[in-house]
Amino acid sequence: MLLLAVAVLVIGYVTGLPSSDGDASTAAEETPTPTTRPSPGEAPAPASVDTFNRAAFSIDDPNSIWVVVNKLRPINPQDFEPGDLVEVPVDFTNEPELRQEASDAVIAMFDAAFAEAGLELASNSAYRSFSSQENVYDGDDATTARPGFSEHQTGLAIDIGALSGECSLDVCFADTPEGAWLRDNAARFGFVLRYPADKTDITGYTFEPWHFRYVGTDLAAEMRDTGVTTLEEFFGLPPAPDYG
Ligand code: ZN
Repeated sequence: MLLLAVAVLVIGYVTGLPSSDGDASTAAEETPTPTTRPSPGEAPAPASVDTFNRAAFSIDDPNSIWVVVNKLRPINPQDFEPGDLVEVPVDFTNEPELRQEASDAVIAMFDAAFAEAGLELASNSAYRSFSSQENVYDGDDATTARPGFSEHQTGLAIDIGALSGECSLDVCFADTPEGAWLRDNAARFGFVLRYPADKTDITGYTFEPWHFRYVGTDLAAEMRDTGVTTLEEFFGLPPAPDYG
């Protein structure tokens, strides 16, 4: 834009064309002024709606907000621990920690749920270390992750429930006002419902209407707008129904 403005001024000076400010009577005689910045009201060129960059972040790096962890994609290194974990100051049943960015998003989402719909949310589980996942894993691969394969270890995943505890960590949470609100609004805050009801063959997990994964607002919006509901499908990864 700057170069274009300079070019217009130079051409206008050489050829006697009116300058861009419309002052035609004196443009040919005057030395171009150095005021080549676009006027404040001039809009930048509109970005294409098709500019979503699927390579913006790594899906392999555990520090990336787009990292994809599933039964075929263990966290690497296995004992990875995020460097920016913070305590999340929201209601909880187990004191939650998340990466800073995800924590900020949770706070905003919980605040919005209350402000917009009068709903009170609580965290049931957020960051889990490799060793704590060893305690969580119950041997049922359809419902719990083996240590080193849990999204919770990224510091970007959170199990959310109603503060009342109704349908906590149960599929009936989907039918509660809190579950419905999260389903409809999580993308605004950068979260995706990671284990949809009809995608068990792809994610390897049964429906978890409480498990939300922070991916940032750009990716969450893109997935919402394109109707692609799993990270595997969005990034063209193979289904991960079972451990390799
Ligand atoms: Zn979970």
